[in-house]
Amino acid sequence: MPSRRLGLSLGVDLVPVKTCSFDCPFCEVCRTTCHTVERRAYVPVADVLAELDDWLAAGGEADIITVAGSGEPTLHSGFGEILAGISARCSIPTALLTNSSLMHLPEVRTAAAHASIVKVSLSAWDGASFARVNRAHPSLDFDAMVAGLRALRAEHEGAIWMEVFLMAGLNDAPADVERIAVLARGIGPDRIQLNTVVRPPADRSAVAVTAEALEALAGRFEPRAEVIAGFTGSPPAAAPVSSDRVVGMLARRPCTAADIGVSFGLAADAAAALLAGLRSAGRITTEPRENGVYYSAKS
Ligand code: SF4
Repeated sequence: MPSRRLGLSLGVDLVPVKTCSFDCPFCEVCRTTCHTVERRAYVPVADVLAELDDWLAAGGEADIITVAGSGEPTLHSGFGEILAGISARCSIPTALLTNSSLMHLPEVRTAAAHASIVKVSLSAWDGASFARVNRAHPSLDFDAMVAGLRALRAEHEGAIWMEVFLMAGLNDAPADVERIAVLARGIGPDRIQLNTVVRPPADRSAVAVTAEALEALAGRFEPRAEVIAGFTGSPPAAAPVSSDRVVGMLARRPCTAADIGVSFGLAADAAAALLAGLRSAGRITTEPRENGVYYSAKS
């Protein structure tokens, strides 16, 4: 998938749709149907690594392999073993995209250390905002999560990036963003990225912050936050394309025709024609948004 943060990314999905410790209004996947903090082997580690072996044998190329997907990957009890297995098989760097919720657990921090980049999230400033912005599982404690992030920074020698996700009217007031920035300073990530609603969100009440407002808020962070820009990676040389693979990708998250073009190495008119065919066949739906038309698989 083209990632706005990481370039061309191979996503490794470790939990079923939609298993998460949060139920964020802005989620690109869908509403959380399994709201849990239970850690277990949702899919067998050996099966994930066998799929990776197949992809590598078929000449798969990516800028990064991201352990993330249709929910929170640290809920998988074997995610550290999977990260280590990826590194043993290829030299492509790995990223763990986590919502930070389980970082208070030492075993989760130890497993996370296998990733080249640990990208954590922090979009609230206290327990009440945590409940509104992330709709966190009731057993989770915001202060314990922040302490876990500080411990991760102390223990982890690799890169730590932090995403701050802002929604208009929920957590974008300058005073509230300042509170998040103070907590971020105490954690000390290498990079901070401001994100907002771009793809169709799980909860249509989640509204984007303007690019101008994000730029104005970026300077409150130390180091200065980056406002995430559009995808700039190169298309794969000869990605095989089939209708089922395109629909499979659209089942994971809504994409534009440009995203599909980049992911499958298709010219713009070829991607548009393929999507038009899938729409006529009733397999996908469209949703116009301010920044373009998004395609989703019919559920
Ligand atoms: S955005 Fe991430 S953390 Fe939030 S509900 Fe979706 S998968 Fe979970």
